[in-house]
Amino acid sequence: MVAGYFGKTLRVNLSSGMISADENDENFYRSYFGGSGLINYYLLREVDAGVDALGPENKLIFATGPITGVPIAGSGRNSVGAKSPLNGGYGQAEAGGFWGAELRHAGWDAIVVEGKAENPVYIWIEDDKVEIKDARHLWGKTTLEVQKAIQKELGSSTIRVTQIGPAGENQVRYACVVNDINHAAGRSGMGAVMGSKNLRAIAVRGHQKVELADEKAVTSLAKWLRDDLKTNRMAVNFSQNGTAGGVSAFSAMGNLPTNNFRYGHFDGADKLNAQSINEQILVKRGGCYACTIRCKPHVGSNSTYKVDPAYGGPEYETLGSLGSSCGVDNLEAVARGNQQCGAYGLDTISTGVSIAFAMECFEKGIITEKDTGGIQLRFGNADAMLEMIELIARREGIGNTLAEGSARAAAAIGKGSEEFANHVKGQEVPMHEPRCKAGLGLGYAISPTGADHCHNIHDTGYEARIGSGPKAMGIMEPLPSQDLSAAKVR
Ligand code: SF4
Repeated sequence: MVAGYFGKTLRVNLSSGMISADENDENFYRSYFGGSGLINYYLLREVDAGVDALGPENKLIFATGPITGVPIAGSGRNSVGAKSPLNGGYGQAEAGGFWGAELRHAGWDAIVVEGKAENPVYIWIEDDKVEIKDARHLWGKTTLEVQKAIQKELGSSTIRVTQIGPAGENQVRYACVVNDINHAAGRSGMGAVMGSKNLRAIAVRGHQKVELADEKAVTSLAKWLRDDLKTNRMAVNFSQNGTAGGVSAFSAMGNLPTNNFRYGHFDGADKLNAQSINEQILVKRGGCYACTIRCKPHVGSNSTYKVDPAYGGPEYETLGSLGSSCGVDNLEAVARGNQQCGAYGLDTISTGVSIAFAMECFEKGIITEKDTGGIQLRFGNADAMLEMIELIARREGIGNTLAEGSARAAAAIGKGSEEFANHVKGQEVPMHEPRCKAGLGLGYAISPTGADHCHNIHDTGYEARIGSGPKAMGIMEPLPSQDLSAAKVR
């Protein structure tokens, strides 16, 4: 087998209970590489156009890349893909953490999950040994409860678990897949697809090493990267502040969606920024497999809003979606909302943007207290935001309407509410103001997933040359952020 791959995709059919392995050759990997390449390969070949995204004919694919599980910073990521119940087309999301690396150490490059189990199940993978196990006792529990229960059942707290929460079980259209408790493959409703298959979790443990063509060269590259990350300005900033480091600056430049995208500047931004997190609620920072940056916050609070550090902490997208987008400047409330979304397996972006949409409808009189069950759904009402997360995860009351995503919710509510649903192709817009990052907005329009900030290059990246995206597209010289000429759009 070509170095960097194990040459095997695990196939689990939950309808028949059949477990098998596809053997892939070098040509396969040279053509489809890994991650989204593998996901596209399986979806385009095996999922017919027109199938119900939440039906048994849809397939759920977990895919890694050639360096996943190789001890080098940034190699902990895995992709999850399926036909999306949110945009009705291509669905895919990525997550960091440790689960993807563990899957590779178990000797698998990807997993294709087919069909639907009769009762809730989870999959247990230990190297070549794969079992489908009963998960009826886990159904309805939070992600932390389920991870602990599976690790106890299988006899080790080092077993890695990826899973859905109750929101995925209830097929909320923007439910996510969560691995290692605080790493979410958030976008495009992959958790709803997993829930539709009655699959609560995939637990994995491996004892193998990824074979490398030149181990010495990779080891020396990993060392260079480790050393560079100690002094690299962006990496050091990430270590100290995480993605929350962008909150105040983005607000100042008009890029922080506020009150359902009415504004790009939030007066309460400084209350949600990295400094506030570090000074008020940070317990520690955590990270992903082999990464020395360790940018992930773990926050805690025992005040009005109880927050358990096990669920990590709010990062930039969450601070925007549950915070500024809903007009909420209470940091502990946003951290509590982050915990609820993690415990129930909800994408924080789509959740916050759907709630902000409902807040705007409420303030404009399109929906009333009668619709919300008495909740004063106004911008800035932190308790209302938290209550809505509960209702969405359980699909209760107006939460059931919002669990369909803001585009479908607007179609159901009518009365001009469509004007206030911020989505592209059914997927809620992330926390970057497309009127400020126009190129990103254009990217949303032409991306198969719709509005996903991870699938498009940000305009600031062309200007400051952050990352290698523009270079890879042949744009070698910095371009003004606002440029939308042929020099950028080609
Ligand atoms: S710790 Fe942060 S920087 Fe490192 S891989 Fe994870 S998300 Fe990326």
